[in-house]
Amino acid sequence: MSTRTGILFVISGPSGVGKGTVRNAVMPLVDDLQMSISATTRAPRPGEVDGLDYFFVTPARFQQMIAGGELLEWAQVYGNLYGTPYEYVTSMLSQGRDVLLEIDIQGALQVKEKMPQGVFIFISPPSVEELSRRLCGRGNDSEESIQIRLAACQQEMDHIKYYDYVVVNDRVEDAVDKVRSIIMAERCKRKNLNLG
Ligand code: ADP
Ligand code: 5GP
Repeated sequence: MSTRTGILFVISGPSGVGKGTVRNAVMPLVDDLQMSISATTRAPRPGEVDGLDYFFVTPARFQQMIAGGELLEWAQVYGNLYGTPYEYVTSMLSQGRDVLLEIDIQGALQVKEKMPQGVFIFISPPSVEELSRRLCGRGNDSEESIQIRLAACQQEMDHIKYYDYVVVNDRVEDAVDKVRSIIMAERCKRKNLNLG
């Protein structure tokens, strides 16, 4: 069993910037990294599996999780509720396991309050035009919801100052390489090595 406390990595950024894409590509490249599975009230998309992609819960159950202090953070993101299970994250960290969260900016700011020792990585779009192309290309969102996300992005960029790292997701391979490098560098920090 590890003698150090695990490191909490938080990947965040505007909707459509490629957080999920980068997270999914980084996970198989990094050993001993646990991915937290969020709870959400949104309906599963085709192919999504309960307990693997998300814990899909009813709004009533989500409210119960909030009231019971079961969530490290939670936020309403474009009409649905999302939250990070507190117990999973804290038990992994206390066992010395590193944990990766991929959450929206409101959630990341709450985690920063509670766990400022975490490593906060902002994924930024190369440009608003490219973000718009990605949101259109993803095919999940109506024209109206794309406009809402683009408007939010302008304000969300103001929160960059709360993050430790900024990774521009231009070519996905480069962004993945950078996030992987950040994880490796943080693991090599002397304070994270328990050298005394
Ligand atoms: P988020 O999780 O931040 O909302 P997604 O990972 O769902 O974003 O990505 C949004 C869309 O952009 C998806 O269709 C994805 O395939 C595409 N995408 C992600 N990264 C890149 C990239 N570097 N270049 C081009 N398209 C990308
Ligand atoms: P999607 O519905 O496309 O899977 O996710 C929508 C948004 O919710 C994404 O920006 C994603 O990062 C965010 N998200 C996913 N899980 C959580 C969570 O546990 N907490 C918060 N605050 N946001 C989350």
